Formats: sequence, structure tokens, C-alpha cells
Amino acid sequence: MPEAPVQSGGVATLEYEAVPAVERDEARGPLGTVVMKFGGTSVAGPERLKEVARRLVSAREAGNRVVGVLSAMGESTDDLIALAHQVSSRPVARELDMLISVGERISCALAAMAIHDLGHEAISLTGSQAGIVTDTVHGKAKIVEVRARRIHEALDDDRIVLVAGFQGVSTAYDVTTLGRGGSDTTAVALAAALGAESCEIYTDVEGVFTADPRIVPSARKLHAVSYDEMLELAASGAKVLQLRAVEFARNHHVRLHVRSTFSDAAGTWIREEDERMLEKAIISGVTHTYEELVYRVRGVRPAPLFADLAEAGVNVDTIVQTGDEIVFSAPADDGTQTAAALERLGVDWSARDDLGKVSVVGAGMKSHPGVAARAFAALDDAGIDTEIVSTSPIKIACHVRRDDVERAVATLHEAFELDAPEAERAHA
Ligand code: ADP
Ligand code: ASP
Ligand code: MG
Repeated sequence: MPEAPVQSGGVATLEYEAVPAVERDEARGPLGTVVMKFGGTSVAGPERLKEVARRLVSAREAGNRVVGVLSAMGESTDDLIALAHQVSSRPVARELDMLISVGERISCALAAMAIHDLGHEAISLTGSQAGIVTDTVHGKAKIVEVRARRIHEALDDDRIVLVAGFQGVSTAYDVTTLGRGGSDTTAVALAAALGAESCEIYTDVEGVFTADPRIVPSARKLHAVSYDEMLELAASGAKVLQLRAVEFARNHHVRLHVRSTFSDAAGTWIREEDERMLEKAIISGVTHTYEELVYRVRGVRPAPLFADLAEAGVNVDTIVQTGDEIVFSAPADDGTQTAAALERLGVDWSARDDLGKVSVVGAGMKSHPGVAARAFAALDDAGIDTEIVSTSPIKIACHVRRDDVERAVATLHEAFELDAPEAERAHA
């Protein structure tokens, strides 16, 4: 792809879409319902699945009504997608959803078997059987309704209910999937619909960290993060929670506990903002993503451009307009639709795939000046150039060269002293 010069300056927009209303079935007395979600690494093999079954059984034996939401085993969603591409260069979206929804069903059926062996009743349900109704957008469907009757009946029958994550049934009766990482959203939607006491997201790290612990080994586990901060963290690349899951949690007041499958340590609570969260640390974390392309477009006004991109289902992130040039970023996964929309418009356009985005997020930024100055000074000292800068009230995001991303994350993490114990907000 041709390289395009990209300018600094401008303001990003980050629009959170409304999520559907959920009817809580409080008449059934859902006291003590817990939703426990386990990610791919947590169910990666038979032994891990058996361990997950034991965790679910312990929660049941402690007196809870237990709903488990499971992801596909290990990398199996990636494997299924790769398989589809071996058979077809452009897999039909409906059939791709039929295929990749299978991984979560496998995990749930196996976990149900393991739970039976532990002497408890369990039932596995597909997203459709669990009453998760979505719109008709294959590959990134949105939940429009949760009809939880079947889950309630199974819980009333004293069973542990296992729901296949990441999927639902559309209003046109087709199987849909909720986008990568979508099992998080299944779990939160069910927690909201069931009026659950808690929604626990079990994963392969101990919580939400001040940066991806795989890149910054000195990153600290955050004790508590507000919904707004977590929205920005998730939107800007902290893939530990799917963005839509956080939106759902915020809109339905579901408190989330992100924690490790492999230990009993307390993890990170995602909940309403609390002044104590901001007392010690202005910044909650530094995130990064490589999964965006940056487009430069000329010869079109913003209104028709973004109308067309929206129509094509492209999730535009940063937008910068300077004179008759518009620069925007969009997910690499939406690359085909974006290119098709730009071709349809007949505009002069180019795209860059050699940039990554590094963001500094923190609710304390609203009331503390000088955060931008400190970030840019640190990047400057490290010899890292920023290509596009965008902000929200609680975020500063910089596109930098891909090769500089990891160094930029480490530099900003150090500049805001996020490896200090105070960064954890352990008092909250
Ligand atoms: P799961 O399969 O359990 O859903 P994911 O792979 O989706 O797990 O998310 C967990 C991963 O998110 C971690 O292994 C970690 O590398 C990555 N990650 C990125 N940023 C962060 C962060 N700020 N805090 C914690 N984990 C992060
Ligand atoms: N298995 C799906 C994925 O890999 C959904 C999930 O794990 O949340 O994206
Ligand atoms: Mg995930």
C-alpha cells in the first residue's frame, strides 16, 4: 500500500453505542446467582477444563446458582477461521459464523461432562438455546435481547448452566457471533439479565494491569478501575475485556471482577468511579494496538464519507480533518469493507499499515494539567515521533511507527511511574 503523510493534531471521537435494555427476572429471586466466564487459555485442554468444572462446582457448593460462560479451547477460533480461508478466499459471513460458533459449544459440552463426573447436574446451552438474541450483522452482532427463561428453569432444577460464549441467534433466526473476545459480552449480558450478584471474568492474567504485562513486566495489577476508564482502556487496545462487555456492564450497573483462572488472588474490580480511585494515581494505564489502519482521503466532505463508512459497518476511531484532507483510523479487520466504501465514493485515498497506536488513559487527567506535556516530553527524550495525536477527556492517544510501539508503551509507563505501588490503587 502507498504511504501517505499523516498530520498531527485534531480531536478523536469515540462514540459508545447504546446497549439494549435488559429485563431482570427479579421475581424469581435471583439472589446468589453468579456468572463465571472462562477464556480460551483457561479451557485450553482436558485438564484445564476439569479444573474449570471444579471451580464451577465449588461455587455451586458454596450455595450459589451458577452460570458458566466458556470460550473456545485455546486458539481454536483462530484455527477455525484459518480453516475457512483454506476452503474459500472470501468465506460467506453466515457460514463463517456457523463454523466459528462451534468452538464454544465444544468447551461447554465437555465441561458439562466433567461436572457430571463430580456428582453435580449440569446442562450446556448454545447461545441460541440460552436466549441470546442479536441483530443480523454476522461477525460482530450486537445483543438486542436476552430471553433467560431456559436458564432460569435449569437453575431452578438445581443445575449448573454452561452457556457457549461469543454467539447468539439473530432476529432472522441465524447463528451469529459477537466479534473477537465476545464471550466477555455474553457473560456480562447474562449477568445483567439474571440480576446476578457478580460477574467474574477468569483469564490468563491476574487482572487489568497498568500495561499489557507481556510487554511491560513491571506493570502493576490495578485494584479498581472505573467503567469510563475501562471503556477507554478496552477501546484503545487492552484486550483483556471486550469493549462491548464494558459498555454493557456500565449501562446495566454490573460490577465485573477480572481475575486469574490459575490462582485465587483477588483481581481487578470494574465499577463506578470513586474519588479514592483518583487519589493516588492520575493515570490508570498505557495501552497499545497494532490492529488499525490509518487512511488519508481527499476530495470528499466528512458527511458523505462517514455516512458511507457507517453504512458499510466500519468502526471508525480517530478522525482528523485539515483543510480538504481527512485522516481517520479504522480496524484492520474492517479493511475490505473500508476499501470497498472508499472505492464506491470514488475518492483519492491511501492507507498505512505501518503504524500502531499507544494511549495513556486515566480519569485523573480531567483535573490534572500537564499530562500531555509529560507524555510528549518522555516520547521526545526516547526519540519516538508521533504521527497523529488524538484526545478524549481521559485519554491521549498517539499513532507511532509500529517498530516504536513497545518502546513507547514502556517509556510512557515509566514516565507516569506506573511501576510504583501507588499505581495499584490498593486502598480502594
Ligand atoms: P481470554 O482468552 O481469557 O479472554 P484474552 O487473551 O482475551 O484472554 O485477554 C487477556 C490478555 O490480554 C492477557 O493475556 C494480556 O496479554 C492481554 N492484555 C493486554 N493489555 C492488558 C492489560 N492492560 N491488562 C491485562 N491484560 C492485558
Ligand atoms: N473464542 C472467541 C475468540 O477467540 C471469543 C472469546 O474467546 O471471547 O475471539
Ligand atoms: Mg478475551
